Order: sequence, then C-alpha cells, then structure tokens
Amino acid sequence: MNQNIPIHTQTATGDGPNANPADLFLQEDIPARYYRMPLEELRQRGAEAKKRLGDDLLILCHHYQQDDTFWFSDISGDSLYLARQAAKTKAKYIVFCGVHFMVESADIITSDGQAAILPNLTAGCSMADMADIDSIEDCWDYLSDLVGSEKLLPITYINSTASLKAFCGKHGGTVCTSANAQKILTWAFKQNKKVLFFPDQHLGRNSAKALGVPADQISMWERAKEDGGLKNETIEKASIILWDGYCSVHCRFTPQHISDARARRPDTKVIVHPECPEEIVAMSDYSGSTSQIIQKISESKPGSSWAVGTEINLVNRLAKEHFKKDGKLIDILNPNVCVCSTMYRIHPANVLWVLDQLLDGNIPNQITVPPETKKLAKVAIDRMFELS
Ligand code: SF4
Repeated sequence: MNQNIPIHTQTATGDGPNANPADLFLQEDIPARYYRMPLEELRQRGAEAKKRLGDDLLILCHHYQQDDTFWFSDISGDSLYLARQAAKTKAKYIVFCGVHFMVESADIITSDGQAAILPNLTAGCSMADMADIDSIEDCWDYLSDLVGSEKLLPITYINSTASLKAFCGKHGGTVCTSANAQKILTWAFKQNKKVLFFPDQHLGRNSAKALGVPADQISMWERAKEDGGLKNETIEKASIILWDGYCSVHCRFTPQHISDARARRPDTKVIVHPECPEEIVAMSDYSGSTSQIIQKISESKPGSSWAVGTEINLVNRLAKEHFKKDGKLIDILNPNVCVCSTMYRIHPANVLWVLDQLLDGNIPNQITVPPETKKLAKVAIDRMFELS
C-alpha cells in the first residue's frame, strides 16, 4: 500500500466556528518497510512496543476495524463506550483506531497532557463530511428567522466534526450516539422545542419514529435545494428537522436482502443498525447500535441464526466467535461487501509506525481541537454523558 496517494482527504475541523475547508489532512509517508513486514513481525514488534510504553499507552479500537488492526487493541467498543474509556484513562498517548471524529472527541474529553492519535490521518467518515459548520449555521439562521432560535435545539450525532459539537454546546444542545439517540431525543422533545438533527437523517428518523413522532412532523433539510426545499408550514409543523446526511455503508442494505435472508433460512432473525434506511429498520426483527447488536446476539439461544445489517468486519468477527462458541449462524445481510473503507485505512503497519514514533520521543498524527471549540464541544458531550 502506498501512503503517497491520498485516496481520501478529510476537511479540517474544529478550527473555531469556521474551519477552513481548504485545509486537508494528509498522511505523511511511512517507511515502506512497515508495509512489507509480515503480520507476525508486526505483531511481535507491536507487542514489544506496547510493553515498553506500558501505562503511558492506551489503544482503543472501534468494532468496525479489520481484525489485523483489532489485534492491537487494549479496549474495543462502539463510539460511546470508547469515548467513556478515553474520558477515564490517565494514559499519555491514546492511539485511537477509529476515524477522525472519534479521535477529536477523545481530544475534547481528555486533559491537556494527553495526546489523542489517529494512526492514519486519511481515516475519515463520509457521513461526518456531509455536514460542515457553515452550512449548519446557514440552516440554523434560516430556521431561527422563521420560528425563533429559542424554539430550536441542535443535536448532533457523535459522527460529526468538533465544530458541530461546539455549535450544539453553544446553543443548549447535545451529542448523541446510536445507542442513546432515543433517550437524547426524549430529553429534547420534553423541552417543547424543534430539534435540528445532523448529520444522519436515518438515525434521526428511526429514533423519532420509535418514539412515536408522526411522519408529518418529521421533515428533512435538503442541502442541494434552496431553503432546504422546505415550505414554511412544514417547518412550523415539524418536531424534528433532519439533515440529509447518510452512511454509505448502512445504506447498502435493501428489502430484497432481507427477503433473501429469510428465504435462505426461515428461522433467521434480522438485526440492523439504525443508520439503515427506515424501510430496512421496519422490515427487520430488531435494530440497535453495534453494542446492542452484539448483546442481542450474545443473549440469543445457542444454534440461532442471524442476518446482520452493519459493517462487515464486526459481522465476520461475531460469526467466527459464535459459530465456535454456541453454534450460531451469523451472516452479513448484504452478501456484497459492506466495509467502512475509511476505517479500513488503519492498517497494522500504521499502528506499529505510531508506536515506534512514540518510543523515539515523537508524537505523530496528534489530533488537536482548538481551545474555544474544545470548551464548547465538551459542554455538549458532558451533557450527553449526564443524560445517558
Ligand atoms: S460506517 Fe459509515 S458512519 Fe460509520 S465511520 Fe464508516 S462511513 Fe462513517
């Protein structure tokens, strides 16, 4: 793999309220020898480096990481769990095998002497890139002129830039994850305000529907249309206004995949992530965050059968583990690969390179959120921790 080729770049974030989208994060070359190293050697050297770095180091790994990278983790989990672990640790170096927004969140909630590190700077999230602070502010101003800012409340999915979290902190809003979105929305609706929910339309819609919000009170701001494509009456009636972002991985599941899975094994249960479109969630037996999916499958009867609609690395890991342990049959819902290609950019070679740099006294790929953004974003994240 050649790190010279920036297959994907992520816009800079968190630089005050108006980050410059022209600033791009580019991964510097790492020596080719890391990529030529056999996996066994990467592991052996990684284990030695971890031992030498001791308590100064914590490696966090998201569920969607490829197995070879997952092997290096001290703690694995979903965004909420990993954010909590980052908040708790005293480690000097937090190497986060996730995507850019997760490492920003780690930097926001850790103290000044700690460094949050992303092993490959090109690991972004295409959904997070769909909402930038300027567009959100324009939308907010438009809605405020119409209904009054005191009647609006912003909620951002954790899959978003630090500047959007800061925006929520500044305007009395908060952050949510797929595990607590319904709880957070319940809190927001109790305040009798209209929620502006970004960036994931599907998580917002699925959560609002599960809470019984009627379809005609859920509207969507479409970025490509003038005034979001919304009529004034629609905005006035809405309980929640969704941003039109989406996850390209979770939008790859179709009703046909569900029918096919049930035709293959009539006793199979379908479980999907709430980033999937509404019709997929409606047709499924269950939906939940990655942790909830793991828990549901773990608690099911030995020998049961599951078709799972989320990222393939997690599904494959569950399939291997449960087939051995209790004979469960677990398949990905879409047989064509559903991989988070940006998360996949964290190769074990990147992890070992980071550890070697740390041993040499350098801190590579540190993600630093500017102080003012950090302060406001922390208000929003702390509010989420209190509520969930
Ligand atoms: S799975 Fe989707 S939402 Fe999650 S990090 Fe990848 S692109 Fe972003």
